[in-house]
Amino acid sequence: MNSSIQDILSRANQEETLQRPDVIQLLDISDPNELQALFKTAYKIKKQNVGKVVYFRGLIEISNLCQKDCLYCGIRKSNHDVNRFRLSVQEIVDAAVWAHKNQYGSLVLQGGEIQGDEHADYITRVLERIHQATRNELAITLSLGEQSREVLGRWRLAGAHRYLLRLETSREDLYRQFHPDDHLWQNRLDCLADLRAENYQVGTGVMIGLPGQSTSDLADDLLYIRDLDVDMIGMGPFIPHSDTPMAHHLPNFNKNKQLDLGLKMLACARLLLPNANMAATTALQALSDTGRELGLQAGGNIVMPNVTDPKHRRAYQLYDGKPSLDENSEQSRIGLQRRIESIGETVGYGLWGNSPRFDQRGV
Ligand code: SAM
Repeated sequence: MNSSIQDILSRANQEETLQRPDVIQLLDISDPNELQALFKTAYKIKKQNVGKVVYFRGLIEISNLCQKDCLYCGIRKSNHDVNRFRLSVQEIVDAAVWAHKNQYGSLVLQGGEIQGDEHADYITRVLERIHQATRNELAITLSLGEQSREVLGRWRLAGAHRYLLRLETSREDLYRQFHPDDHLWQNRLDCLADLRAENYQVGTGVMIGLPGQSTSDLADDLLYIRDLDVDMIGMGPFIPHSDTPMAHHLPNFNKNKQLDLGLKMLACARLLLPNANMAATTALQALSDTGRELGLQAGGNIVMPNVTDPKHRRAYQLYDGKPSLDENSEQSRIGLQRRIESIGETVGYGLWGNSPRFDQRGV
């Protein structure tokens, strides 16, 4: 093994702060032995800091209505080949009750970005009804895009605890390339600051392997996220969607390479923020049947099993090859538990699974 990789990993093991060149070198690893050494180190640091318990976040895809037009996203407003839907409050509550009965400690409500009072009221009702139906026993994460501070405050009061808003990239010029002119990178940053001010547990992340993105950009992304001092990280590989303008932007798209890059990012994130929660995302699973387990072995400690009624899942495809389209919630719970146990970990049933980073913050 290259002596400098060994040196970086042993410095990480001794809790030394890694520098930009170190992270770039780790992201550039191509030697299989070095890759395994990186994952092994990240796994050791994960075990020491967040343990070998995997927390389930029951994912409810509440709506694919979206006012945004991100050039990579399958539910972008200009994609007219999508059957648009919004779940009723009762459908969401039913999914939440199922998750609660099955001992999921928490939920993620994700959907396209919609601004305005009607939507804000709908989410407020959803939050209140879920808490009534589940005795306030579930932690709730929202992932509903940029919202005003006032709306974020209302949702926090109605019982949302956490919020995931990806920065997508820390390079503003790259953000501009993949978004229309009126989508501002700075707004996302401001929204992340508002989330912290409103006392949310804050999660962010980036898309990995975008066209024109280098490993030094990705290292900058990780350092940027470290400096934002977030509680959770949810990042995953970019995967093209055939009905978007970016369908053919990566002519040499290679699933294995994209997967490896995603896993390297997760491992480096674990070295940089040892006590944060990190998702082994569905996008990893879209690239390989065992993608989520590999993600857990590279430093992730969270998975988001889909608990949305399968009849709506086809209409919520952010990228091609979304996995588990026809699997019902019970099948995916059993399958995932088996996979998690097969790598020597356990499911944290009935637990909220806050990150130690958040708990130590003492808010
Ligand atoms: N609308 C909300 C927002 O913007 O945060 C939440 C839903 S949005 C669809 C969730 C995330 O999906 C985005 O932050 C983006 O990173 C990811 N995503 C969208 N299209 C993708 C693609 N083609 N490949 C990988 N991830 C994608």
